[in-house]
Amino acid sequence: MTLAVPTEDFDCQSCGACCSYSEDWPRFSLETDEELDRIPAEYVSADLGGMRCEDNRCSALDGKLGVHVGCKIYAVRPIVCRTCMPGDDECLMARHKLSQKVLL
Ligand code: SF4
Ligand code: SF4
Repeated sequence: MTLAVPTEDFDCQSCGACCSYSEDWPRFSLETDEELDRIPAEYVSADLGGMRCEDNRCSALDGKLGVHVGCKIYAVRPIVCRTCMPGDDECLMARHKLSQKVLL
């Protein structure tokens, strides 16, 4: 029997590419006011339209890119963060950009 072997390891906890792709990425969309209220203000952008980023990196991202990362607000993260799936188009685009700076 031949087992399928993944050609790429999509381990989010050793990646973080989508969380550091663009300051325009972690924007709010269909979140309710109650959901937004659960996100600590220190991580929200000045225009209140999304997550606060520094050099395209979300301020809620903890750790070292490409090594070990985590989301400090994982349980209450925005919808865009919930819908990005390892291996989807956005993921691949973000990983491609990051791979130019960090070896994944
Ligand atoms: S969804 Fe993709 S780009 Fe985002 S952390 Fe996971 S593997 Fe990395
Ligand atoms: S809120 Fe969390 S999951 Fe979303 S971009 Fe920031 S660090 Fe990544």
